[in-house]
Amino acid sequence: MAQDVLCEVSSCVHNINAQNKCGAAQIYVVNNKERNASNSEETDCKTFEPAGH
Ligand code: SF4
Repeated sequence: MAQDVLCEVSSCVHNINAQNKCGAAQIYVVNNKERNASNSEETDCKTFEPAGH
């Protein structure tokens, strides 16, 4: 189980400011195309929520 999720997406409400860490209890990572990912660029965090809304 991942315990320390590092993430640079500072525009996400779950991102801990200036630490590049995710504060969500769990995250859901999905393929960003209709087939299984072949590399990291083909994965996305579906738990993302925009900050400031
Ligand atoms: S929910 Fe996803 S995008 Fe948001 S901080 Fe966590 S890992 Fe990053």
